[in-house]
Amino acid sequence: MLHAFPELEFFSLTLQEEFRGVRTREGILLAGPLGWGEFSPFPNYTPIQDSLWLRAALESAFVPLKYPENSSVAVNAIIGDNEDSYLGSARALNEFGCTTIKIKVGLDVDQDVERVQEIVRAFVDAGQLNKLLIRLDANGRWGIAQAVDTISELQSVPIEYIEQPCRSATQLRELRKKVTVPIAVDEIVRIDGQHQVSEFADLAIIKVSPLGGTDAVERLIEKLDVPVRFSSAFESSVGLNSSLLAAHKFAPHQVAGLGTGMLLATDTVKRPVIPHEGRIRVVKCEPDPEQLKRVPLPQTQQDLWRKRLAKAWDLIPESQLASWGVPKRSVQG
Ligand SMILES: [Mg+2]
Repeated sequence: MLHAFPELEFFSLTLQEEFRGVRTREGILLAGPLGWGEFSPFPNYTPIQDSLWLRAALESAFVPLKYPENSSVAVNAIIGDNEDSYLGSARALNEFGCTTIKIKVGLDVDQDVERVQEIVRAFVDAGQLNKLLIRLDANGRWGIAQAVDTISELQSVPIEYIEQPCRSATQLRELRKKVTVPIAVDEIVRIDGQHQVSEFADLAIIKVSPLGGTDAVERLIEKLDVPVRFSSAFESSVGLNSSLLAAHKFAPHQVAGLGTGMLLATDTVKRPVIPHEGRIRVVKCEPDPEQLKRVPLPQTQQDLWRKRLAKAWDLIPESQLASWGVPKRSVQG
């Protein structure tokens, strides 16, 4: 039994198409006195990582966070792994007004180069090339040689930065001596990790849910010695709320990677949090009961998620829960 929450909603969302081997996004929405939070850590996360995500969800539901009035955040669009990058970019531009496009790379040099050039072609055909900026994300999959090869093939392309081109700090340090394009770190950014990253990176990617919420992120940003860009962890529209708020607060003039709602075929809210004219409004939204009926999570999965939630809960210090007004012993797996 879960007594702490007046409501607890499970969901299983469908992606428009497979993205990094994933077809669905599962999780729990939990209600507190101040709204909803989303607990949707990825399947391969450890209990510690789950507990950081739960902190973010509890913060959203129990801690007063001030949402600005009539504010929005500029966002990039993201091209799905198997999506035609020409069509995806044309859609991003025409349907969502996004001129910064993010694309995953790191498989095969020729294939990567071709997919990136298709983005350029879409913007050329639309007469908007001067507005285009491309963000590459290799998720640490490149070796140094492959990174150098791919980057040199893309010299004429307007690349804003490359996210986590190689896995380790040592590799990034080496790569940086060989290329001029800015390097962003993502996977390397951890709440308890290294904060002096300017030796091997120009930017750091911040994801609010996996890093433990807006308060944790604020403290992290203070310690980091490079500027930040916000990005999503593929949350539903409810989970994106606090990321938008944090992006607005801590990087208001930057383009955030929070346009991932466009990759979801189903959502938890009536009006999905997706870009309009390249921007997303910063608002706190509530799940819609009708939408939730369309995205049910099977009972066996619900039981697993309940256990996962309870385990994560037990890892959050009692003092932290008390400071948010959350009763400690309210979840049993
Ligand atoms: Mg990334």
